Amino acid sequence: MKIEVKSKDENEIVFIIRDGEVPLVNAIRRIAMMEVPKIAIEDVNIVQNDSAMFDEVLAHRLGLTPLVSNNSAIEGMPLSEDCDCEDYCPKCSVSFTLNKTGPGVIYSKDLSSTDSTIKPVYDTIPLLKLKEDQNVELEAVAKLGVGKEHAKWMPTTVCAYKQYPKITFDEDKEVDYDCADACPRGILKSDRRSKKIKVLDIENCSMCKSCVRASENNYIDVSFEPNDFIFTIETDGGMPPEEVLLKACEVLEEKADKVIEFTNDLK
Ligand code: SF4
Ligand SMILES: [Zn+2]
Repeated sequence: MKIEVKSKDENEIVFIIRDGEVPLVNAIRRIAMMEVPKIAIEDVNIVQNDSAMFDEVLAHRLGLTPLVSNNSAIEGMPLSEDCDCEDYCPKCSVSFTLNKTGPGVIYSKDLSSTDSTIKPVYDTIPLLKLKEDQNVELEAVAKLGVGKEHAKWMPTTVCAYKQYPKITFDEDKEVDYDCADACPRGILKSDRRSKKIKVLDIENCSMCKSCVRASENNYIDVSFEPNDFIFTIETDGGMPPEEVLLKACEVLEEKADKVIEFTNDLK
């Protein structure tokens, strides 16, 4: 199996896996979404809320506010069910306070954290609006969790793969330029001088087959490479995508180790 990076920035990585297998690639996808721990607000104690927003809606908004969850921020923090405390303690949680009086919009930057590294990823997420003299006062407790418990703990906003597209032309047939004109992504370019159709960016092909339907003489065929994949991981900014991938592989490794251990015990 070979892996190469196609593009990478702060919040998104796109890589190509060659000679892979669907079960393995899909296991990594599912674990990256559902089993990589991330931190999110879980409990909210509302002291006062004069705003028009219901307490439950405000708590939900706080839960979905992305918090910095990279390796250095959450290192050593256990999942709350693995901690020896009863509900939460400084080891397995981080507290935030919010105390503001209107008028004005309250943003994510107004949440003050007890841990300088764990804070909202973005400062400008609007949380609620207060009118003159309205007040909001609350304490919020953030804990580690996993996406299979609640979507707020999913580290990925996009975690998907597609099989590598394969475009072939039947050279025994007359060149059908209509298929190039039908491509909505501009991937196919007619070159009437050389009497060919050029494929410009095959990895951008969505395999919609508009080109195949437009070709009356079946000049073009679109399929996919069964063992090659284009994999995209995008996060909400809380964790770098490569950390999500690495942790997903660690979780998969732990699961495989358990199966090996079980098999060894059978001997
Ligand atoms: S399958 Fe769709 S996106 Fe791909 S080349 Fe054909 S028309 Fe373009
Ligand atoms: Zn604890």
